[in-house]
Amino acid sequence: YKEELQKLIGTPNVTIDGVHIEVNANIGSPDDIENVLANDAKGVGLFRSEFLYMDGKALPTEEMQYEAYKKVLEAMEDRVIIRTLDVGGDKELPYLNIPKEENPFLGYRAIRVCLDQPELFKTQLRALLRASVHGKLGIMFPMIATVNEIKAARKVLEETKQELLAEGIAVSEDIEVGMMIETPAAALVSDLLAKEVDFFSIGTNDLTQYTMAVDRMNAKIAHLYDTHNLAILRSIKMVADNAHKAGIWVGICGESAADTTLTETYLAMGIDELSVSAPSVLEVRKKIQQVDTQKAKASLNL
Ligand code: PEP
Ligand code: MG
Repeated sequence: YKEELQKLIGTPNVTIDGVHIEVNANIGSPDDIENVLANDAKGVGLFRSEFLYMDGKALPTEEMQYEAYKKVLEAMEDRVIIRTLDVGGDKELPYLNIPKEENPFLGYRAIRVCLDQPELFKTQLRALLRASVHGKLGIMFPMIATVNEIKAARKVLEETKQELLAEGIAVSEDIEVGMMIETPAAALVSDLLAKEVDFFSIGTNDLTQYTMAVDRMNAKIAHLYDTHNLAILRSIKMVADNAHKAGIWVGICGESAADTTLTETYLAMGIDELSVSAPSVLEVRKKIQQVDTQKAKASLNL
């Protein structure tokens, strides 16, 4: 079976009826790139930047981050979407001295930390903006729940860019700025959010957890953690429709992007991109090549 998949290297991610779908890779560090290239992905749809913060005993410097981002941007032919820090929840950073919380997944995490600690946020944004000249960069914000949050994040990004330009440091003019849709609140106001960004990437891991009110780590209720649930599929469809109405593209970067029993449904909804871990890239390609999106659309029933 593996040999059969290898034969798909060099073939396009195109459906029977000629629709091109982007298939990108999820990575957690620059060390993953080798495997990404071996599996014939051209871009990165989600670079989880947490590894930079989890590995050390203190915050990573701007320079350390810049080097890591540059490495990935230089290695990839296509766009690399780097997600800003997503700590909290199950990912603790001892040196930030965040008090213990009753409900860490509903707590001080991700964009909430970054907007609350602008210095920490700006260090990462400076590194990202400096690295932008080495490839095709997308910057993505996690855990957005309100329009104000995305506006605030974009404001800090713009301020940071102006500061760099004033220092005479080059910044790319065509960085795409997007956000994850992984809270039910974001899905419900995705028509408004779509006006603020260049793209959406749906994080079905958290979107499922929060929509179904089921802890993604709790084995006892794992049967309710179901990415096929109608509530999740309807949310994704609503997000896709709102993205397209606003003229932006929409991808999925949660684990369910690699679930080939859902590929046809996602393509019927008009999902433009699927970002999966390297070992799933060719499997998803194979499935895409078997789908007829016109037929799939006609039989979509949510
Ligand atoms: C998600 O929530 O689907 C996602 C991709 O983010 P993470 O798994 O890193 O929380
Ligand atoms: Mg998430």
